[in-house]
Amino acid sequence: MKLLSSSDPSQVSQACAEYGITSAQFDTLYTRSRAAKDRAYCPYSRFRVGSCILTDNAQFIDGVNVENASYPVGTCAERVAIGAAVSQGHKKFKAVAVATDISPPASPCGMCRQFIREFCHLETPILMFDKDGSFVIMKLGQLLPASFGPEALPSAASLPATG
Ligand SMILES: [Zn+2]
Repeated sequence: MKLLSSSDPSQVSQACAEYGITSAQFDTLYTRSRAAKDRAYCPYSRFRVGSCILTDNAQFIDGVNVENASYPVGTCAERVAIGAAVSQGHKKFKAVAVATDISPPASPCGMCRQFIREFCHLETPILMFDKDGSFVIMKLGQLLPASFGPEALPSAASLPATG
């Protein structure tokens, strides 16, 4: 994991070129994922997480972690963002950003990596921002190697009608 600085224009433009997003898209993903943290509902962990995803048709949609008094019921910011996007009719995404208050930056949990996998190709950049605005950027395929995705499932009609 290489930690880059969002305030270093050359590092940002190089990362954007490598991962197929524009500097303007990067700036919006950075600003919105960090701002979303302020709306996190995390009274139990106090671990604020904000997410912002870029849809295939250039929309930005935010999410925050939403905890629950029954702890396992809580949901991560990335899944909240993608769920919101899907409910608004979006099913393909160009980038996923996540921001936390720690450094080095947190990466999406295993469940979120699989959730993202459902809607993104393996080259999709995942941007991870730390408390100071430094970031790590990796492709989904690096975060979730040898993954299982929708294309791995045979059609239901081709399977025996048992179970
Ligand atoms: Zn998660």
